[in-house]
Amino acid sequence: MTETYDITIIGGGPAGMFAAFYAGMRNAKTQLLESLSDLGGQVNALYPEKTILDVAGFPAIQGRDLIAAQRQQLAQFPLTIKTNQPVTNLVPTADGFAVTTPAGTTQSTAVIIAVGNGAFTPRPLNVPNGEQFEQSGQLVYSVPDKDAFRGQRVLVAGGGDSAIDQALMLEPVAQSVTLLHRRDQFRGLEHMVDLLHQSRVTVKTPYLIRGLATTADGALDVTIKPVGQADENHLVVDRLLVSYGFTSDYHVIEGWDVALDRTRRLIAVDSAMATSVPGIYAIGDGVTYPGKQPLIATAYGEAPLAVHSIMDQFFPDRRGPIHSTSLHRPDATK
Ligand SMILES: Cc1cc2nc3c(=O)[nH]c(=O)nc-3n(C[C@H](O)[C@H](O)[C@H](O)COP(=O)(O)OP(=O)(O)OC[C@H]3O[C@@H](n4cnc5c(N)ncnc54)[C@H](O)[C@@H]3O)c2cc1C
Repeated sequence: MTETYDITIIGGGPAGMFAAFYAGMRNAKTQLLESLSDLGGQVNALYPEKTILDVAGFPAIQGRDLIAAQRQQLAQFPLTIKTNQPVTNLVPTADGFAVTTPAGTTQSTAVIIAVGNGAFTPRPLNVPNGEQFEQSGQLVYSVPDKDAFRGQRVLVAGGGDSAIDQALMLEPVAQSVTLLHRRDQFRGLEHMVDLLHQSRVTVKTPYLIRGLATTADGALDVTIKPVGQADENHLVVDRLLVSYGFTSDYHVIEGWDVALDRTRRLIAVDSAMATSVPGIYAIGDGVTYPGKQPLIATAYGEAPLAVHSIMDQFFPDRRGPIHSTSLHRPDATK
């Protein structure tokens, strides 16, 4: 017997987790399929230690605590959650969709794609011997545990939000933090740039990294060069954290048997989060529409839209949500 679900959610990042919770609120028989061994998407995999400031209701919350809270929220409902289950194909059938993972094929009336940007990998530092320093742990691309940086001299390279976040996150625990960027202007949120300038972080701009070597006592010798000048300087640190952003691999969707309308490699959706294929909805970082911002807050907003759209379209006999505001709204015609 093929397992059948009302809703299948592909991708267990913040968007997919919240959609699964919301599907539980609507009593939909739901499965959540995640390719990694753990839920939480980018937040869990790339910045569990970061303090997130822009999630409604939390003035400040660590990435790992936000995902733990989402997990707790999910546990209220009897949902089927399968990790280590990359979806390899999605095929339209008479009753909905056949969803295939390495563990087999299940059937679903509707699908919500919440795969973010697909599998993500950090953009590497372009120096010939980078791999040698990655192996020694002196060149890193993420901070799974900030205590590993305690008392160290750290150089953070990059000019976007995540470089600033990581420099600020390490400042209280590291002996020193230097932030190096190839431009004078940072691309971070204005408030975070203000915090950076008020912090102990030493800002070095506009500089480029030209090479890595080891000092006699085993520290990391980073050759840096001011942009547009010939002279080179050296910075001696314990760790170099490169934060140049991520490249993502969307190939998995390209191999699916459904033809989704895509713009800039993102899935085009309407205001109900519906894709070009009836029955397939999409939310989170992997979608595009006018004004889309790839943020946790927007993903949280999109999840209920997709779930309600599915319930209205495929299960109209099931009662929709009635909030107290709907019950007491004054009649505008009077
Ligand atoms: C360093 C950094 C800092 C950030 N800071 C903030 C911040 O402070 N505030 C904020 O709002 N946003 C921040 N963001 C952005 C935020 O993380 C994303 O907007 C959010 O993670 C999007 O959630 P998502 O669920 O759409 O995608 P993701 O988090 O990317 O999750 C998608 C999930 O789908 C899974 N998946 C992919 N393909 C498949 C498949 N075929 N089958 C099954 N599963 C699959 C992936 O493994 C992943 O777990 C930051 C991002 C980065 C990189």
